[in-house]
Amino acid sequence: MDSAVLADDPTDALSSLPRRSGRRAAGQVRFFYGPMDCGKSTLALQIDHNHARQGREGMLLVRHDRSGQPKISSRIGITRGAVEVNEDLDIRELVRGRWSASRPVDYLIVDEAQFLTASQVDQLAELADDVQVDVYCFGIATDFQSRLFPGSRRLFELADLIQAVQVEVLCWCGSSGRFNARVVDGRVIRAGDTVLVADTGQDGASAGAAVPDGRDLPDQESVTVRYQVLCRRHFRAGDLGPIATGQGQLSLA
Ligand SMILES: [Zn+2]
Repeated sequence: MDSAVLADDPTDALSSLPRRSGRRAAGQVRFFYGPMDCGKSTLALQIDHNHARQGREGMLLVRHDRSGQPKISSRIGITRGAVEVNEDLDIRELVRGRWSASRPVDYLIVDEAQFLTASQVDQLAELADDVQVDVYCFGIATDFQSRLFPGSRRLFELADLIQAVQVEVLCWCGSSGRFNARVVDGRVIRAGDTVLVADTGQDGASAGAAVPDGRDLPDQESVTVRYQVLCRRHFRAGDLGPIATGQGQLSLA
Protein backbone atom coordinates (compact mmCIF):
# COMPACT_ATOMS: atom_id res chain seq x y z
CA MET A 1 0.00 0.00 0.00
CA ASP A 2 1.23 3.47 -0.85
CA SER A 3 1.97 5.48 2.26
CA ALA A 4 1.25 8.73 0.43
CA VAL A 5 -2.31 7.58 -0.08
CA LEU A 6 -2.64 6.87 3.61
CA ALA A 7 -1.28 10.29 4.46
CA ASP A 8 -3.94 11.98 2.37
CA ASP A 9 -6.78 10.09 3.98
CA PRO A 10 -8.88 12.77 5.72
CA THR A 11 -10.02 10.25 8.30
CA ASP A 12 -6.45 9.79 9.39
CA ALA A 13 -6.09 11.59 12.70
CA LEU A 14 -2.57 12.56 11.75
CA SER A 15 -3.38 13.83 8.30
CA SER A 16 -2.73 17.46 9.16
CA LEU A 17 0.70 16.69 10.53
CA PRO A 18 3.38 17.54 8.02
CA ARG A 19 5.78 14.74 7.38
CA ARG A 20 9.24 15.75 8.34
CA SER A 21 11.73 15.23 5.60
CA GLY A 22 15.32 14.26 6.09
CA ARG A 23 14.66 12.20 9.18
CA ARG A 24 14.67 8.51 9.80
CA ALA A 25 11.66 6.52 8.78
CA ALA A 26 10.13 5.97 12.19
CA GLY A 27 10.35 7.01 15.79
CA GLN A 28 10.73 4.48 18.54
CA VAL A 29 8.50 3.51 21.42
CA ARG A 30 10.44 2.66 24.53
CA PHE A 31 8.98 1.30 27.73
CA PHE A 32 10.86 1.56 31.00
CA TYR A 33 9.18 -0.35 33.77
CA GLY A 34 9.74 -1.10 37.40
CA PRO A 35 8.05 -1.10 40.80
CA MET A 36 7.21 1.99 42.81
CA ASP A 37 10.14 4.07 44.01
CA CYS A 38 12.60 2.65 41.50
CA GLY A 39 13.28 6.07 40.03
CA LYS A 40 11.12 5.99 36.91
CA SER A 41 10.01 9.61 37.16
CA THR A 42 13.56 10.73 37.82
CA LEU A 43 14.74 8.89 34.72
CA ALA A 44 11.86 10.39 32.73
CA LEU A 45 12.93 13.91 33.67
CA GLN A 46 16.57 13.13 32.94
CA ILE A 47 15.70 11.93 29.45
CA ASP A 48 13.60 15.05 28.90
CA HIS A 49 16.54 17.19 29.97
CA ASN A 50 18.92 15.38 27.62
CA HIS A 51 16.63 15.85 24.63
CA ALA A 52 15.80 19.48 25.43
CA ARG A 53 19.49 20.27 25.70
CA GLN A 54 19.89 19.13 22.10
CA GLY A 55 17.19 21.53 20.99
CA ARG A 56 14.47 18.95 20.59
CA GLU A 57 10.88 19.80 21.43
CA GLY A 58 9.00 17.46 23.72
CA MET A 59 5.75 17.04 25.56
CA LEU A 60 5.41 15.54 29.00
CA LEU A 61 2.29 13.50 29.69
CA VAL A 62 1.11 11.84 32.84
CA ARG A 63 -1.86 9.92 34.20
CA HIS A 64 -2.82 10.09 37.85
CA ASP A 65 0.29 11.86 38.99
CA ARG A 66 0.82 11.26 42.69
CA SER A 67 1.00 14.98 43.39
CA GLY A 68 -2.57 15.49 42.26
CA GLN A 69 -1.34 18.11 39.79
CA PRO A 70 -0.61 17.45 36.12
CA LYS A 71 3.12 17.25 36.44
CA ILE A 72 5.88 14.69 36.59
CA SER A 73 7.28 14.74 40.09
CA SER A 74 10.18 12.63 41.18
CA ARG A 75 10.77 11.69 44.77
CA ILE A 76 14.15 13.38 44.75
CA GLY A 77 12.43 16.74 44.31
CA ILE A 78 12.61 17.51 40.59
CA THR A 79 9.31 18.48 39.03
CA ARG A 80 8.10 19.53 35.60
CA GLY A 81 4.67 20.48 34.36
CA ALA A 82 2.89 17.90 32.25
CA VAL A 83 -0.35 17.31 30.39
CA GLU A 84 -2.80 15.10 32.23
CA VAL A 85 -3.93 12.29 29.96
CA ASN A 86 -7.49 11.37 30.77
CA GLU A 87 -9.12 8.20 29.55
CA ASP A 88 -10.81 9.85 26.56
CA LEU A 89 -7.85 11.84 25.27
CA ASP A 90 -6.66 11.01 21.77
CA ILE A 91 -2.93 11.60 22.04
CA ARG A 92 -2.72 12.05 18.25
CA GLU A 93 -5.13 15.00 18.55
CA LEU A 94 -3.01 16.45 21.32
CA VAL A 95 0.11 16.32 19.15
CA ARG A 96 -1.78 17.65 16.15
CA GLY A 97 -2.98 20.60 18.21
CA ARG A 98 0.55 21.38 19.22
CA TRP A 99 1.70 21.02 15.66
CA SER A 100 -0.99 23.33 14.27
CA ALA A 101 0.27 25.96 16.71
CA SER A 102 3.62 25.66 14.90
CA ARG A 103 5.23 23.85 17.77
CA PRO A 104 7.00 20.67 16.74
CA VAL A 105 6.82 17.55 18.85
CA ASP A 106 10.00 15.54 18.53
CA TYR A 107 9.41 13.33 21.52
CA LEU A 108 6.83 12.39 24.11
CA ILE A 109 7.52 11.37 27.67
CA VAL A 110 4.69 9.54 29.39
CA ASP A 111 4.86 8.88 33.11
CA GLU A 112 2.50 6.48 34.90
CA ALA A 113 2.04 4.86 31.50
CA GLN A 114 0.51 1.77 33.05
CA PHE A 115 -2.71 3.78 33.33
CA LEU A 116 -2.94 4.45 29.59
CA THR A 117 -5.64 2.63 27.69
CA ALA A 118 -4.57 0.08 25.10
CA SER A 119 -5.91 2.44 22.43
CA GLN A 120 -3.72 5.26 23.68
CA VAL A 121 -0.67 3.01 23.43
CA ASP A 122 -1.72 2.24 19.85
CA GLN A 123 -1.87 5.99 19.25
CA LEU A 124 1.68 6.37 20.54
CA ALA A 125 2.88 3.67 18.15
CA GLU A 126 1.13 5.44 15.31
CA LEU A 127 2.84 8.70 16.21
CA ALA A 128 6.19 6.94 16.20
CA ASP A 129 5.60 5.20 12.89
CA ASP A 130 3.87 7.94 10.92
CA VAL A 131 5.34 11.20 12.18
CA GLN A 132 8.63 10.00 13.70
CA VAL A 133 7.88 10.98 17.29
CA ASP A 134 10.13 9.28 19.82
CA VAL A 135 8.06 7.96 22.69
CA TYR A 136 9.40 7.24 26.16
CA CYS A 137 6.97 5.52 28.50
CA PHE A 138 7.55 4.91 32.19
CA GLY A 139 5.36 2.76 34.34
CA ILE A 140 4.66 -0.13 36.62
CA ALA A 141 4.21 -3.50 34.96
CA THR A 142 1.74 -5.24 37.24
CA ASP A 143 -1.06 -4.14 39.52
CA PHE A 144 -1.74 -5.06 43.14
CA GLN A 145 -3.10 -8.41 41.98
CA SER A 146 0.14 -9.11 40.10
CA ARG A 147 -1.68 -8.80 36.75
CA LEU A 148 -0.39 -6.62 33.94
CA PHE A 149 -1.96 -3.19 33.75
CA PRO A 150 -3.74 -2.74 30.38
CA GLY A 151 -1.39 0.05 29.34
CA SER A 152 1.69 -1.94 30.31
CA ARG A 153 0.40 -5.04 28.54
CA ARG A 154 -0.02 -3.10 25.30
CA LEU A 155 3.41 -1.52 25.71
CA PHE A 156 5.01 -4.94 26.15
CA GLU A 157 3.26 -5.95 22.93
CA LEU A 158 4.17 -2.89 20.86
CA ALA A 159 7.28 -1.20 22.19
CA ASP A 160 10.50 -1.27 20.19
CA LEU A 161 12.53 -1.36 23.37
CA ILE A 162 11.52 -2.71 26.76
CA GLN A 163 13.79 -2.09 29.68
CA ALA A 164 13.60 -2.72 33.41
CA VAL A 165 14.65 0.35 35.36
CA GLN A 166 17.93 -0.54 36.97
CA VAL A 167 17.51 0.89 40.44
CA GLU A 168 16.56 -2.09 42.53
CA VAL A 169 13.81 -1.75 45.09
CA LEU A 170 13.99 -4.09 48.01
CA CYS A 171 11.32 -5.92 49.92
CA TRP A 172 11.54 -5.56 53.71
CA CYS A 173 13.33 -8.94 53.76
CA GLY A 174 16.09 -7.70 51.48
CA SER A 175 15.03 -9.64 48.40
CA SER A 176 14.38 -7.83 45.14
CA GLY A 177 10.91 -6.27 45.21
CA ARG A 178 8.83 -6.56 42.09
CA PHE A 179 5.21 -6.46 43.29
CA ASN A 180 3.16 -3.53 44.46
CA ALA A 181 0.90 -4.68 47.27
CA ARG A 182 -2.17 -2.58 48.06
CA VAL A 183 -2.40 -2.17 51.79
CA VAL A 184 -5.59 -1.06 53.54
CA ASP A 185 -5.59 -0.73 57.30
CA GLY A 186 -2.38 -2.72 57.53
CA ARG A 187 -3.54 -5.67 55.44
CA VAL A 188 -2.74 -6.70 51.88
CA ILE A 189 -5.85 -6.34 49.71
CA ARG A 190 -6.32 -8.57 46.69
CA ALA A 191 -9.61 -7.37 45.23
CA GLY A 192 -10.95 -4.04 44.06
CA ASP A 193 -10.46 -1.52 41.30
CA THR A 194 -7.23 -1.76 39.35
CA VAL A 195 -6.62 1.95 39.69
CA LEU A 196 -6.58 3.34 43.18
CA VAL A 197 -3.99 6.02 43.61
CA ALA A 198 -2.51 6.60 47.01
CA ASP A 199 -0.31 9.54 47.82
CA THR A 200 2.80 8.07 49.33
CA GLY A 201 4.21 11.49 50.08
CA GLN A 202 7.52 13.11 49.27
CA ASP A 203 9.41 11.19 51.91
CA GLY A 204 7.85 7.89 51.06
CA ALA A 205 5.82 7.80 54.24
CA SER A 206 2.29 6.59 54.17
CA ALA A 207 -0.44 9.14 53.66
CA GLY A 208 -4.18 9.17 53.29
CA ALA A 209 -5.94 7.88 50.23
CA ALA A 210 -6.36 10.07 47.20
CA VAL A 211 -9.02 8.36 45.17
CA PRO A 212 -9.70 9.91 41.75
CA ASP A 213 -13.31 8.89 41.49
CA GLY A 214 -14.06 7.44 44.88
CA ARG A 215 -15.67 4.29 43.55
CA ASP A 216 -15.85 1.30 45.83
CA LEU A 217 -14.78 3.33 48.79
CA PRO A 218 -18.02 4.43 50.44
CA ASP A 219 -16.31 5.65 53.58
CA GLN A 220 -13.13 7.28 52.35
CA GLU A 221 -12.51 9.20 55.54
CA SER A 222 -11.75 6.08 57.55
CA VAL A 223 -9.77 4.16 54.95
CA THR A 224 -6.05 4.55 54.46
CA VAL A 225 -4.66 3.09 51.27
CA ARG A 226 -1.00 2.71 50.58
CA TYR A 227 1.22 0.56 48.43
CA GLN A 228 4.25 -1.42 49.51
CA VAL A 229 6.80 -3.14 47.33
CA LEU A 230 7.26 -6.82 48.20
CA CYS A 231 9.19 -9.76 46.83
CA ARG A 232 7.09 -12.46 45.22
CA ARG A 233 7.22 -14.71 48.26
CA HIS A 234 5.97 -12.05 50.65
CA PHE A 235 3.49 -10.71 48.12
CA ARG A 236 1.97 -14.16 47.85
CA ALA A 237 1.99 -14.59 51.62
CA GLY A 238 0.64 -11.09 52.23
CA ASP A 239 3.48 -10.56 54.68
CA LEU A 240 4.24 -6.87 55.17
CA GLY A 241 7.14 -7.45 57.53
CA PRO A 242 7.72 -6.95 61.23
CA ILE A 243 6.85 -3.24 61.62
CA ALA A 244 4.64 -2.68 58.64
CA THR A 245 1.51 -1.42 60.37
CA GLY A 246 0.79 2.17 59.51
CA GLN A 247 4.27 2.97 58.31
CA GLY A 248 5.67 3.61 54.88
CA GLN A 249 8.38 1.25 53.80
CA LEU A 250 11.08 3.90 53.84
CA SER A 251 10.63 4.30 57.57
CA LEU A 252 12.19 0.88 57.98
CA ALA A 253 15.58 2.28 57.04
ZN1 LIG B 1 10.33 -10.36 50.93
